[in-house]
Amino acid sequence: MIMNRCSFNNDILHKLIDDAYSKFRDLDDGQNASYIPFLKDVDSKLFGISICLTDGTIISKGDTTYLFGLESISKVPTAILALQQYGASYILEHIGSNATGMDFGSLLAILLEQNQPSTPLVNAGAIAACSLIKPIGSMSDKWDIIIQNINALCGSETKVIEDLYKNETDTNFHNRSITWLLKSYNRMYDDPEMSLDIYTRQCSIGVNVNQLAVMAGTIANKGTNPLTKKNVFDRTHAPQIISMMATVGMYQETGDWMFRTGIPAKSGVGGGIIAVYPNVMGIAVFSPKLNQYGNSIRGEHTIKYIVNQLGLSIYE
Ligand code: GLN
Repeated sequence: MIMNRCSFNNDILHKLIDDAYSKFRDLDDGQNASYIPFLKDVDSKLFGISICLTDGTIISKGDTTYLFGLESISKVPTAILALQQYGASYILEHIGSNATGMDFGSLLAILLEQNQPSTPLVNAGAIAACSLIKPIGSMSDKWDIIIQNINALCGSETKVIEDLYKNETDTNFHNRSITWLLKSYNRMYDDPEMSLDIYTRQCSIGVNVNQLAVMAGTIANKGTNPLTKKNVFDRTHAPQIISMMATVGMYQETGDWMFRTGIPAKSGVGGGIIAVYPNVMGIAVFSPKLNQYGNSIRGEHTIKYIVNQLGLSIYE
């Protein structure tokens, strides 16, 4: 059943989600992230799939109300906010959009790059992006604007999972090293510890898979939330953030991912993945067991199955 992108309707999407759910539910490869102890204990059987079309239709299946850690998917909304606040040239100059070719927490990449920028979608660039975000209007601090941006993208309120935040704060020695190494290369743009704390908090936000699908759907819909119809960011930033996802969203696996699926995606070690098919839909999957790169295994299989069946590829 290979279709072109105009030939599918909601019944087909329901069927594909049902098929993917039964095909991959029992796939037991991989393991939960364990370097953040809280994540190790999340029920690894959890599995939720959601599609948000740009007309606002949501089609979902499985564990759709469970709140899991946003983790690295939070890098996407904060990169959008940084693009929105500073414009593309400033972000390219101060952070960049290139893949490091190394893992998301690579210190070696920073040592090699020094003053050369990388991307806001790995830890170093994401912590630098948190340092750049400026509070505006009546919002008293950076955190308010960061979480309000995430809420606007999701179309509903999110909040920090306090136990996860505490756990990440107690164990984020590696990210602390990244932060201070960036500082030594003049690549932190505000107080380092405060910027790291904001990054840690945004990673600890709890979301369900429907909220994530709406976030992806808002990006697919060029910044206008398909549910609330509110404009969250300027449409010029949609292709920019989507290109960043296509470059490094699945870390060292991104080239292989783009080759096999043709759809830009971003993963988080909480088990979430968002994928964006511009102008048509956002897809989100949640399931905690990860492969060696930190990407959800059931999530990858599910998205790959759905987009391959639909014949969707941004390269077509
Ligand atoms: N909070 C995690 C970290 O900073 C996020 C990593 C991820 O999801 N890939 O290591």
